[in-house]
Amino acid sequence: MIKKRAQSVLTKILIVVYGVVTVLAVVGVVTVLLDETPLVLKKNNQSDVSSRPQSIDDIIKDTLIIEDGADHSIAIDLPDIDRFIPSEATIPAWQKYAVHTPNNGVNMIAVVIDDLGLTEHLTAAFNDIKGPLTLAFLPYGRNLPQQTSQATEAGHELLVHLPMQPQNKYADPGYNALLDELPLDEYNRRLTWNLSRFDGFVGVNNHMGSLLTENPARMVALMSVLQERGFLFLDSLTSAESAGYKAAKSMHIPYAARDIFLDNERTLAAINAQLMQAEKLAEQRGFAIAIGHPHQVTIDALKAWEKTLPSKNIQLAPISAIILKRQKEQALDLK
Ligand SMILES: [Zn+2]
Repeated sequence: MIKKRAQSVLTKILIVVYGVVTVLAVVGVVTVLLDETPLVLKKNNQSDVSSRPQSIDDIIKDTLIIEDGADHSIAIDLPDIDRFIPSEATIPAWQKYAVHTPNNGVNMIAVVIDDLGLTEHLTAAFNDIKGPLTLAFLPYGRNLPQQTSQATEAGHELLVHLPMQPQNKYADPGYNALLDELPLDEYNRRLTWNLSRFDGFVGVNNHMGSLLTENPARMVALMSVLQERGFLFLDSLTSAESAGYKAAKSMHIPYAARDIFLDNERTLAAINAQLMQAEKLAEQRGFAIAIGHPHQVTIDALKAWEKTLPSKNIQLAPISAIILKRQKEQALDLK
C-alpha cells in the first residue's frame, strides 16, 4: 500500500518535471529564433574589415539601418569613425598653441616683444603685464623651456625670433643664423635647429634679416618649412624690400607684418607717441601690430598704457588673433 502511494507520487513528480522541461525548451527555441532575426543587421563586425564603408555618407546610412532594427541590444560596432574627426595632429600649430582671447568686437593691437631669452630678469618682467602679449624668444637664449613656459603661464603667446642676416655686415644676428650664402642643406639644418629650442610657439618672426628677407628664394625655402609644420609668419619688416610676407601670402601661410616699432627711441615720451600711432591705426583699420624690445622703459610704458585701453575701445590681442580676424574679414570680402 505504501509502495503503491510512493509510486503514484513519483509519477506526479515526473509529469511536473517533464512539463517544466518542455516549457523551457519551447521558450529556448523561441528566444533563439527571436535572436536570429536581427543578426543579419550586424554588418559592421570586426571580421568584415574589407567591406567597411569608406565615406561618411555610408556610415550614416549604415547607422540608420541598424537603428531601424527591432533589437537595440545588439552591440553595434561602427567603423572607425574617429578617422573622420579632426585629431590634435591635424590642427595647425599656429591655432593649437594660440592664446584664446575673447573677441570683444573692438579694435585689436598686438604688442610683440622681440629679442627675449637672453636677459632673464627683463624677459620675466613682461610676465607682470596682463596682455596678452606675443613674446618672441631668440633660439640661442638660455633656459628657454623654463622661460617660455613661464610666459605661457602668464597668458602670453610665443614666437621663435628667427635670426637672419642683416644688411649691416658688422651687426651679428647670432648663433646658427640664416645667412644668404649658406648651402640649402645647411640653411635647412639651421632652420630645424632654431625651431627645436622650445615648444608651444605659434610661428616665427625675423630677428634682423634686412638682407636675407630680400631674397625671395630663401623666403620661399623658409615658408615651405613653416607650411609643413603649421606655423605662422610675422614679418618684422626690417627691410622695405622684404620678400617675406609676399612669399607667405602667395603660399597661403598665415602671415602678418609689423606696423610700428615702439622703442627705437628709448624714452617714455617717444614710446607713448608710438603707442598713440598704434591706437590711431587700429581705429582706422581695426588692428595694428607693434614691436617692442626688453627695455625697462618699454615695460613701464606698456604697464601704464594697458590700463587705459578699456576706455578706448581697444583690446590687446596675440598675433594669432589678428591673423584670424583678418582671415575672416577677407573671407567675407570674397562673398
Ligand atoms: Zn630682434
